[in-house]
Amino acid sequence: MKKNIILMGPPGAGKGTLAKQLLKAFPFVHISTGDMFREAIKAQTELGKLAQSYIARGDLVPDEVTIGLVRERLSQDDCANGFLLDGFPRTLPQAEALEKLCEEIKRPIDSVVNLDCDNEELIRRISGRRVCKICGAPYHIITMKPKVEGVCDACGGPLFQRPDDNEEALKVRLDHYVHDTKPLLEFYDRRNLLVNFNSLVGSEQLFDEVRLYLEK
Ligand code: ADP
Ligand code: ZN
Repeated sequence: MKKNIILMGPPGAGKGTLAKQLLKAFPFVHISTGDMFREAIKAQTELGKLAQSYIARGDLVPDEVTIGLVRERLSQDDCANGFLLDGFPRTLPQAEALEKLCEEIKRPIDSVVNLDCDNEELIRRISGRRVCKICGAPYHIITMKPKVEGVCDACGGPLFQRPDDNEEALKVRLDHYVHDTKPLLEFYDRRNLLVNFNSLVGSEQLFDEVRLYLEK
């Protein structure tokens, strides 16, 4: 069984949805840097205040900040049963720092699961995306409608559009993906850790495929 996993893919490829499904099937903890930043912004901590403007524009939060955050989280005891890194690393310096850190804490990466998706579909998914304000469950105004418009099926919370899911910020995020994050695929392929999955097959089939692979 694969234990320590990195989930990669462009914004809108379905990382968050897949992570939620995998967490029900595996004992690992979910480490989403995007979620951690959003929580810090909500609580208006120092980290949140710093990250806010970068995220709103679609830019990446500076490496030293993000690396420090993950370093602290990965060293905690609950990561001993495995972890699913979602949205980290996103740059080469982050990947290099993670490699060193994993060696230090003796928690090596077992696999990098990469979700492939074409650009048109990413834009369609993100522009229609809605998220529950309370529990974070994801919806789509056309393909994953809630039973009652604007209300979360799971918890009854209100649905909203993430402030960085607008056209302008999305363009910046996709550019960062191509320039900063995509090169990491080669980094992990060279280490024989990379496995590609096509996210266009839909969330249920994708989950089945990834689950079978991680169980091996
Ligand atoms: P998505 O994958 O849909 O773009 P995330 O929730 O993973 O969304 O991230 C949201 C934002 O948080 C990013 O656009 C970026 O500003 C910031 N962020 C998340 N992870 C990182 C990271 N590893 N390095 C730098 N910034 C990050
Ligand atoms: Zn909810």
